[in-house]
Amino acid sequence: MRCSLIIFLRPLDFMIVTGEQRQEKGLKVLMLGNEAIARGLMENGNGFSATYPGTPSSEVGNTLERDGKKTGMYFQYSINEKVAYEIAYGASLSGLRSSVFMKHVGLNVASDPFVTSVYTGVGAGMIVMVADDPSMFSSQNEQDSRRYADLAHAPMVEPSTPQECKDFVRIAFEISEKYSLPVLYRTSTRVSHMRSQVELDELVKPVNKKNDVKSMRNHTTSLPSNARKSKEELLHKMSALGDDLSFSSLNRIERYGNSRIGIITSGSSYNQVYDAIFSLGIEVNVLKLGLTNPIPQEITMKFLKENDMILIAEELDPYLETKVRTYKDILGLTTEIHGKIDRYMPWSYEMNPHKVMNALRKMTGEEEKEISSPRPASRPDFCPGCPHRSTFYVVKRALKLAGKTETVLSSDIGCYSLSYYDPYQAADIMLDMGASISVGSGISLASGQKVVAFIGDSTFYHSGITALANAVRSGANMLIVILDNSTTAMTGQEPTPELDAIVNGSEFKGIPMEGIIKACGITDLTVVDSYDQHSLLRTVGNEMRKDGISVIISRGECALIDRKTKAKREKYSILTDKCSLCRNCIDNFHCPAIQQDTDGHLFIDSSQCDGCGMCADVYVCPFKAIEVVQ
Ligand code: SF4
Ligand code: SF4
Repeated sequence: MRCSLIIFLRPLDFMIVTGEQRQEKGLKVLMLGNEAIARGLMENGNGFSATYPGTPSSEVGNTLERDGKKTGMYFQYSINEKVAYEIAYGASLSGLRSSVFMKHVGLNVASDPFVTSVYTGVGAGMIVMVADDPSMFSSQNEQDSRRYADLAHAPMVEPSTPQECKDFVRIAFEISEKYSLPVLYRTSTRVSHMRSQVELDELVKPVNKKNDVKSMRNHTTSLPSNARKSKEELLHKMSALGDDLSFSSLNRIERYGNSRIGIITSGSSYNQVYDAIFSLGIEVNVLKLGLTNPIPQEITMKFLKENDMILIAEELDPYLETKVRTYKDILGLTTEIHGKIDRYMPWSYEMNPHKVMNALRKMTGEEEKEISSPRPASRPDFCPGCPHRSTFYVVKRALKLAGKTETVLSSDIGCYSLSYYDPYQAADIMLDMGASISVGSGISLASGQKVVAFIGDSTFYHSGITALANAVRSGANMLIVILDNSTTAMTGQEPTPELDAIVNGSEFKGIPMEGIIKACGITDLTVVDSYDQHSLLRTVGNEMRKDGISVIISRGECALIDRKTKAKREKYSILTDKCSLCRNCIDNFHCPAIQQDTDGHLFIDSSQCDGCGMCADVYVCPFKAIEVVQ
């Protein structure tokens, strides 16, 4: 799973309109940006969608999984972003409008087909939605995906509001079909997770153009001889596109008073600019760009000529600013440009109105005001009843018993990366999806030491399988612990390929990971119940004594799934007379339901207790002071 350490509004929990209402034209409903994108797809004949879930893009898939069948479109959770991209691209070549969604780091995984598909062109319209995560609320980096549009020479549109999230889908499909190019549809956290009123249109069933794929082979076979011709065509397409769309509804100039100060902005930053100019009461002109690759020349040059001083307000890199400065130089204008390059705006983290206000104050000679830093986020933790808590508690204990506390622990992307924090401290490295095994094997090969790698079930299918095959072939000395909680938990409990399911009306028999692991050459494989601390302790201890590579699957269903199916579980409490106050349950096992009162006594908060019973195990409470509430 692409992790989401901090969860913003969970749209499915806060849904305000019913399914029937969603079909009614003219209705105005509250929607998240991501829900509005899904609605836009359903209103524009999207026939095929695929995704690998990742915050902040996940709700597009969650919405289509639930509602997509109303138009008869096909939707799937793919094994990773590259596969999602390729399957959607194939559907587009065949003649169905298609789309693929991912978080920013997911586009790194899908970048290989993305960049080349811009050369080959598409069959029916194709939208590539990518959601960036400025401030890294739920991500390992803050990359600016707009760079991919530049790198690939792909057109890019950026909505600012949920209404635009929906409406720009139509324009993106039209651009894609007119120029036969996949369109990068870029949002960021505040647009994807912003909720506001959206006016609905009718749902539209997909139409399959039934393209003759074979007739496209001179374009779609990306041999160098074809790619060389395609590159020239691509550059011509992008140039024509910039001219055609300069004054389209994607871009507009807004005038607030009579001024020769301008702001150029796009996406989420537009909303922050809007707040800033009304807070300051300043007269200013705003060029709002919805097409950000190519930057529409005509309207941008007109704006440059109309203003003496311009602020470029954008999140992350000076992407717009670099281009606007180039236009200014080409025109030989004296317009002052300010932004990130001259440090009027910071390069990191989300945009906010205070950053815009300070830059405007600086431009107009006013004193800047101090911007308070955001409050540090509270420390995330495993849920009460989480099987991962039990696994990490036991693995750490087993390493201690075996005298191997110095073992390097290589972790991966998912809920289990929370093991980085106290008291577990079970993550020394975490790089990207599937890397726990490959980075771990590199360390093992270089140091000659046994390494323990942790990886989740969804991440194992995403990119752990290739890493495992490589680690076996390399002869790495590793214990790999797969934490199998039967779901892609944090992004919204999406399915993994391991589970039996009904997929688009057909029965799908899950692909068990045991078979894959054995096929990769692992002979030493043990499956253990995550809640069986005794077996887990013994198994980890045994495996740590061996050389070579072995795998333990620690299997225990995600506490959140479990809670849905077993609502009435027993609750546990601490018997004060038996409790020795050794604090092992609270300090080392660290279930959030176990708390301390003002007298220093420990108690279990029944509203939080999941009833997993782990704390009652002698491995956690040696004094048997924790029992089921009678
Ligand atoms: S582990 Fe048992 S004895 Fe120790 S503090 Fe917790 S409840 Fe009390
Ligand atoms: S039974 Fe114990 S470990 Fe499980 S959720 Fe309740 S307090 Fe936490």
